[in-house]
Amino acid sequence: DNTLDIQQIRKDFPVLDQQINGRPLVYLDNAATNQKPTAVINALTQYYEGYNANIHRGIHHLAEQATAAFEASRRAVQAFLNAKHWEEIIFTYGTTDGINLVAQSYGRRFLKAGDEIIISTMEHHSNIVPWQMLCEEKGCVLRVIPVDDNGELIIEEYEKLLSERTKFVSVVHVSNSLGTINPVKTIIDKAHAVGAVVLIDGAQASSHLDIDVQVLDADFYVFSAHKLYGPTGMGVLYGKKAILDSMPPYRGGGEMIKEVSFEKTTYNELPYKFEAGTPNIADVIAVKTALEYMDGLGKENIAAHEHDLLKYATEQLGELDGLRIIGQAKEKIGVISWVLDGIHHQDTGVILDQQGIAVRTGHHCCQPLMQRFGIAGTTRASFAVYNTRDEVDRLVTGVRRVQKMML
Ligand code: PMP
Repeated sequence: DNTLDIQQIRKDFPVLDQQINGRPLVYLDNAATNQKPTAVINALTQYYEGYNANIHRGIHHLAEQATAAFEASRRAVQAFLNAKHWEEIIFTYGTTDGINLVAQSYGRRFLKAGDEIIISTMEHHSNIVPWQMLCEEKGCVLRVIPVDDNGELIIEEYEKLLSERTKFVSVVHVSNSLGTINPVKTIIDKAHAVGAVVLIDGAQASSHLDIDVQVLDADFYVFSAHKLYGPTGMGVLYGKKAILDSMPPYRGGGEMIKEVSFEKTTYNELPYKFEAGTPNIADVIAVKTALEYMDGLGKENIAAHEHDLLKYATEQLGELDGLRIIGQAKEKIGVISWVLDGIHHQDTGVILDQQGIAVRTGHHCCQPLMQRFGIAGTTRASFAVYNTRDEVDRLVTGVRRVQKMML
């Protein structure tokens, strides 16, 4: 029972109201980045037009206004994640940046040769490469949780990988290429049982699921604002206070210091210790607006609507001959990936684009996962709150046309 007025919601997103190649745009690339409501765009403009100033250091009026708005966003994110302390919210440039921060700061300080780091087969490259870089530098060993034919993590195999050598586990909450929702609470509990520290990549979860870092007991949780109706170039690292306190700074520079001299420099308190340099002030401020926008619609309502679209798309696409859906997990968000017999995904993407339909094609930054399924890539449609069943119909008609043209 979904109470959202989608036609009304669509009016909040100016970008949707346009023709592409002579057809109304159907935007189904939301897992890559979703569109921004007017409220978020206005928050950016209001900052630049009304109170643009650098934060924290200024004593003049505009600097205080900007600082207050910036710190209000931190409290909003704290509430969004249900973090215990506001200092546990570190502003980053995105998910990738947050993972690199943890790998470089925590990893270099606390992991040593022979320590094992567990990730999974369905990780985005941003949750693979930083750990490989660390392993190369420190001599740690990367272990990988396998994925079954439905696109679910094989938890029994994960249990076998865990041992007293496991020092870190870094796993995605929701797969960007398959839509699988992983049992992260179980994953975290099992890691903690052997004394390992856990990071959850929440890039795809943040706009679809309720996240409570205290219930999850996650040590680190990262996401990007641009995937939850917020601006690009801005993200969040949540970390437990005691762990963040124990970590050395990641980047050196202004803002992250207490006192600097050539003899000895002392570092700032949390969260500023990890926020060197001038941040994306406008983007951080606008995140609060994005969170309020989602709250206004109700996250359960958004999820219910997207789930309806997923179910409908899975049925409709599932009826096409020669189409194979990759990833049929029991628990999924609104992401559907498929391959067509005899047709390259790139051709599918181009022909859909000719009809004004935006999808993503390729490996979705998950090459090892594609290898697992023995494919080079998929075509992926991913839904947001403003998508409709009519758009799913356009997609299905579009895919039929691809088959007609290519076969
Ligand atoms: N992890 C997942 C699961 C993602 O979907 C993405 C973005 N596609 C990232 C990490 C990286 O996010 P960003 O590019 O915003 O740093």
